[in-house]
Amino acid sequence: MAQIAFAPDVFTWPADEPRLIGGRCTSCGTVTFPVWPSCARCGSTEVEQHLLPRRGTLWTFTTQEFLPKEPYAGGETAETFRPYGIGLVQLDDEVRVEARLTESDPATLRIGMEMELVVVPFRTDDDGTEVMVYAFAPVEGS
Ligand SMILES: [Zn+2]
Repeated sequence: MAQIAFAPDVFTWPADEPRLIGGRCTSCGTVTFPVWPSCARCGSTEVEQHLLPRRGTLWTFTTQEFLPKEPYAGGETAETFRPYGIGLVQLDDEVRVEARLTESDPATLRIGMEMELVVVPFRTDDDGTEVMVYAFAPVEGS
């Protein structure tokens, strides 16, 4: 089955160890995700591509319990929609990233737990192409 990336510019994939593609200001060192054309702190436009760490800690989270309103590209209907988690994950000291979580049960999520970047199916298009998106999964045993 064919697989494509939902947003090819924001993560490295296919890869055994996918990474998010952030930006790093060469003047002041500020790291952002995704890449911004200029630095939010110092205004420099000297921003270089910077691969973010794969692991981080869960800073806060919520769960999406109902089908989001348009625009939403997930392709589910009210009948097929399954709740999913959304988290802010702190990656080292560098940057905090909002992303889907593979886990949606609040009972199994814990602020401060270790999370790792994975690439998971987001939707299947009419021609059978699987559209892949990045998400964070709890690290086993963390
Ligand atoms: Zn800067």
